[in-house]
Amino acid sequence: MSKILIVEDESAIADLEKDYLELSGFEVEVANDGQTGLKKSLTEDYDLIILDLMLPNVDGFEICRMVRAEKNTPIIMVSAKKDDIDKIRGLGLGADDYMTKPFSPSELVARVKAHLARYERLVGSAVEENKVIEIRGIKIDTTARRVWVNGEEKAFTTKEFDLLTFLAAHPNHVYTKDELFSEIWDMESIGDIATVTVHIKKIREKIEFDTSKPQYIETIWGVGYRFKV
Ligand code: CA
Repeated sequence: MSKILIVEDESAIADLEKDYLELSGFEVEVANDGQTGLKKSLTEDYDLIILDLMLPNVDGFEICRMVRAEKNTPIIMVSAKKDDIDKIRGLGLGADDYMTKPFSPSELVARVKAHLARYERLVGSAVEENKVIEIRGIKIDTTARRVWVNGEEKAFTTKEFDLLTFLAAHPNHVYTKDELFSEIWDMESIGDIATVTVHIKKIREKIEFDTSKPQYIETIWGVGYRFKV
């Protein structure tokens, strides 16, 4: 459940906002003055902050500035004065949205939902997990370019890694040496299909328990190789 902080000194407005947000399924806390609002914003984790501009003790400008220095929590700033909204936009304090009072509570809920969705997309893409291929005892982290065999990390050269990853990404597909060479080595590079054989041998030494009886990269005689699943 998303947790929202309302910093608002007019309790009638704070209560109305709180009611509507709670009815929409949000967990809501209210701070009635700037000092409390600032402290809560900095010390607790909220998914979004609704911040009034004119507040006792510490005003919304200052809170926005100080929160932004430490956190990316979405902030919707509200003010009774249109002029103030224009002023804070101009200051570039880093608020995500601005609303002029009075506004309809359903408008506020709609904006809150939109900002939470946008923020989740941003955060979600930032912490996107590495692409990992796992086939039996082999784990290939294609993003970090690391390989583990039965839990033990093994070092691969760039081309060995590319070749292993290509085969593992297309399990049970038989590739000829020509196909593998043109896939992994660019056309200008010096070498021939014997290079593929040499690299397969080196990869097998690292991943196979018994290189004479490969369990992962199989030789298909007269054709090429495949990664067996
Ligand atoms: Ca106020």
